[in-house]
Amino acid sequence: MNNTEETRSLHFIEEIIEEDLKSGKHSGKILTRFPPEPNGYLHIGHAKSICLNFGLAQKYNGRCNLRFDDTNPLTEETEYVDSIRKDIQWLGFDWEDREFYASDYFGQLYEWAILLIKKGLAYVDDHSAEEVAESRGTPTRPGKESPFRNRSVEENLDLFIRMNKGEFPDGTKVLRAKIDMASPNMHMRDPVMYRIKHAVHHRTGNKWCIYPMYDYAHGQSDFIEGITHSICTLEFEVHRPLYDWFLDNIIDDPLVNFSRTRQYEFARLNLNYTVMSKRMLLKLVKENYVNGWDDPRMPTISGLRRRGYTPESIRDFADRVGVAKRENVIDMSLLEFCIREDLNKKAQRILTVINPLKVIIENYPEGQTEELEAVNNPEDEIMGTRHVPFSRTIYIERDDFMEDPPKKYFRLSPGNEVRLRYAYFIKCNKVIKNANGDITELRCSYDPQSKGGKSPDGRKVKGTIHWVSVQHAIETEIRLYDRLFLKEDPAEAGVNQTFIDNLNPDSLQIVKGYTEPCASEARPFDKFQFERLGYFCVDPDSDSGKLVFNRTVTLRDSWAKISSR
Ligand code: ATP
Ligand code: MG
Repeated sequence: MNNTEETRSLHFIEEIIEEDLKSGKHSGKILTRFPPEPNGYLHIGHAKSICLNFGLAQKYNGRCNLRFDDTNPLTEETEYVDSIRKDIQWLGFDWEDREFYASDYFGQLYEWAILLIKKGLAYVDDHSAEEVAESRGTPTRPGKESPFRNRSVEENLDLFIRMNKGEFPDGTKVLRAKIDMASPNMHMRDPVMYRIKHAVHHRTGNKWCIYPMYDYAHGQSDFIEGITHSICTLEFEVHRPLYDWFLDNIIDDPLVNFSRTRQYEFARLNLNYTVMSKRMLLKLVKENYVNGWDDPRMPTISGLRRRGYTPESIRDFADRVGVAKRENVIDMSLLEFCIREDLNKKAQRILTVINPLKVIIENYPEGQTEELEAVNNPEDEIMGTRHVPFSRTIYIERDDFMEDPPKKYFRLSPGNEVRLRYAYFIKCNKVIKNANGDITELRCSYDPQSKGGKSPDGRKVKGTIHWVSVQHAIETEIRLYDRLFLKEDPAEAGVNQTFIDNLNPDSLQIVKGYTEPCASEARPFDKFQFERLGYFCVDPDSDSGKLVFNRTVTLRDSWAKISSR
């Protein structure tokens, strides 16, 4: 439990749950579920829903099921099922043995469809799903009743059973609920319950030729599992009367109906400068605008993990965003704030130079090296210290030197003294340039009395810069990321444009870096703070011959003030 959780007041779903617990509505039991459709990888919006559902179960001594809503065989794959499992576990949640699939309930859903047909509440329509959609009307104009609406129960039963036997081609018939074509709620205008699909399902194979619509499967799946609080995003509020209609007409027992599942809607998470629609994410992946679902620029959980985010930071983020009833857009900087907070406590500090300028310390003996002591994490004494090798030739960051600096420039400039972090004071004596006038090298001198960066005589040195010893440095590939999209709302595109036109062409920049030898032991997903540059995470593309870092996030603390990054 973190600070925000200790101090914040209850959100509306917690209030409802506490009242239900008091009144004994569900005999004191709380059962939630997280219901992903396995048609893509999970994203940060799903993380919010996961933290909410599993979090409520933890808080109120309840349970949370994982249920795959796998009603559409054409878009669902086991690759997605596996990734979803992995991501939820990584976030720190456990569904124990309660892993369910809507497809487990296909048999029961079919029986209930037969029951509704027998009650005269469902009928087979010879139109396609598209034709049905067209005849639904508009919110202000009632829909048109289908000429097949008044088929007899016998005929409907016969046709539905034959639909399932595979006697009719795809798209030639649907099963519809018989409700009200003039209802002000469009979802109540005889919605489709089943469509014909001669398709192989990732779990049921060829067993079914008909598949239930999400709206026909979802509420009943909750009911079958005995979910007490079915939490979903706001757009499903208007579907709730339909879910209730199905259950009202399927379950006759008033006792069961008293404590049956209730649905509560909350505002989905929206983040600026990214997209969260699976359709859009799939397009980015399939058309190679990014390098896969786990590209560190993606808002997917796997992308964030590869970028260097921790489960703790994402849970903290979900908690800070809170649970609201009204749509809003959260600023990406809040997510970045959460990872900085977490990594500040945990990340080992190292010195890395990514835009090098060579410095020769002329009065440091040639061939000499020494080991200087450096603090691994000033926020955590237990992490101890390490040795950083120092020698006559070092790299510093190119923009830590200016030949002709403005006032208040405290970094290196001719005649100005700076502290090399953990090492010595140095002074610049000479600037070496090539034929184009570009600076290629600096000649400096050091004060041997200032070892450890400590002033020998009380004289003050304002700037402290980082460095690496050239002969000891490890060359690394560093991937610097920027926002994936240029617009706050990428979906807002110009005439004849799509969200693709809003992609940021410079969202990935690959540079070379030089880092301390201690990084040679780093493993994929290890996290570091490169002092003054930001937090970086070892990419799984690293192998014995190559060390690759992803920049998780830049730094913004007092150190960063003296850096231009
Ligand atoms: P699509 O992009 O096709 O609308 P989806 O994001 O709704 O898909 P699901 O797999 O159906 O994908 O989502 C699983 C659960 O996660 C649902 O309960 C849904 O309400 C929740 N969820 C999805 N997106 C968000 C979001 N941005 N914020 C909060 N919860 C979300
Ligand atoms: Mg959905």
